[in-house]
Amino acid sequence: MSNRPLVPANVERLSPYVPGKPLTELARDFGITDAVKLASNESPLGPSPKAIAAATAAIAEGHRYPDGYALRRAIALHHGVPIEEVILGNGSNELIDIICHTFASPGEHAVYPDPSFVCYRSSTIAANMEPTVVPMSGGVNYDVDALIAALRPDTKLLFLANPNNPTGTYLGQAELKRLLSAAPQDAIIVLDEAYIEFADAADYPDGLKLRSLHPHILVLRTFSKAYGLAGFRVGYAIGPKTLIGYLDRLRPPFNVNNMALAAAEASLADPEHLRRYVALNAQERQRVGSRLLQLGISVVPSQANFLLVDTGRPAKDVYNIMLRKGVIVRPMAPPIESFVRITLGLPAENDRMLDALHAATTG
Ligand code: PMP
Repeated sequence: MSNRPLVPANVERLSPYVPGKPLTELARDFGITDAVKLASNESPLGPSPKAIAAATAAIAEGHRYPDGYALRRAIALHHGVPIEEVILGNGSNELIDIICHTFASPGEHAVYPDPSFVCYRSSTIAANMEPTVVPMSGGVNYDVDALIAALRPDTKLLFLANPNNPTGTYLGQAELKRLLSAAPQDAIIVLDEAYIEFADAADYPDGLKLRSLHPHILVLRTFSKAYGLAGFRVGYAIGPKTLIGYLDRLRPPFNVNNMALAAAEASLADPEHLRRYVALNAQERQRVGSRLLQLGISVVPSQANFLLVDTGRPAKDVYNIMLRKGVIVRPMAPPIESFVRITLGLPAENDRMLDALHAATTG
């Protein structure tokens, strides 16, 4: 037997994605059956009733392979772009992966900030890229000068989550424009707008309106967050036809299933459900943020559906105490290992979270 490695070195460097602790696991481990999960930036309102009805009806077509055309057309109409500029993903996560595999040759350079969405790391490494990781300033704010300094003439991919996960911070219009003009013209800029619907800052830029500023912008959107369809797995990218065409070569056939397609299309047609959640989130973001400050807990200003909170002690300890009180949050890793990320839920869920967090940080 040869002693060649079982997997390539880049696969050896990866570890499996760690999701927020599922409610079922808390029931199994601690017998807590009324826990609240505020760990995965899911909607507390659930899917639109219209999405549930549409997905239920689509079950009867479960023997047919899915056809994404109707949803792509609806998305194209919704944003006023040609259908050829739209591609669907099994969540935007799948598209991040496909983007890396489509555009990167082994050893090519990628840039992304840290902390940011963990899949930028895993997908670039999986595609054998060589990423430069740019620290957020103070661990939480975009550092545009540092990002520009990290860009090289041969940089192939730049990932920017706006608003960013897990910090909730954002790149303003002027800063984003400065970054876009500094990026090599043949690089691909991935503007990941998973949380865009929650952003309301006056200078928050809609990436779709900035596409003329760089020839290779791919805007990522998802139905997982504001539309409440995380379990269905539907996301999409909008970009130049040529780029979308290449992504389509690596997109697995039938990557979004019938039920998910139906749910997403019905969700787009129910803006009222979306508005309800966005309004609730804005209200709770303000209320919970103020309450945390009253409790002496510092919170990072957020444009998303979660808050990043500095507990002043090891986040793992705070997480474990809160877990036993039936509140699941997300502990952060270095360089922000004293922070927990907390998804905003319903008012009663948030109140329970505030009690648990207060107890965990004063005990
Ligand atoms: N981008 C960002 C910034 C995210 O936070 C997430 C989900 N955590 C995703 C993409 C992926 O979302 P999905 O695959 O559910 O569309």
